[in-house]
Amino acid sequence: MHELAVCQQLLSQVEETAKANGATTVHMIRVSVGPLSVIEEPLLEQAFSIARSGTIADQSTLEIDQTVVSVCCRSCGVTGETAPNMLLCSACGDWKVDVINGAEMMLMSVELSGMPESDPPPGQSPPGQQENQTKETEYV
Ligand SMILES: [Zn+2]
Repeated sequence: MHELAVCQQLLSQVEETAKANGATTVHMIRVSVGPLSVIEEPLLEQAFSIARSGTIADQSTLEIDQTVVSVCCRSCGVTGETAPNMLLCSACGDWKVDVINGAEMMLMSVELSGMPESDPPPGQSPPGQQENQTKETEYV
């Protein structure tokens, strides 16, 4: 299944992002899928639920955005949006165009948590006078 390979690739990208941010959990992964890509959304969701198990994104959800198709005209050089089933220049109507957007899936954003700089859950700070001491001795 093509979508499974796509998901595994996506998840390794997500894991790298999470690691770089020191996150321990991934909540949501947002991708954009172009109308010209060969990816079937239901298959992608299905593949994602398989591929995510055992990864940092085990509990995450997948959000899929549809992107528009953009083409660059070889005749007049104008870049514009077009219908996925009729690739024509939006300015002059020429069919000699290059697809510059809408043919692939891209990782848009990742929602992470568990970063060291995020607020600790309430009720976990030690009671009493330790608060100031820890800060003063931090760099000794
Ligand atoms: Zn044109």
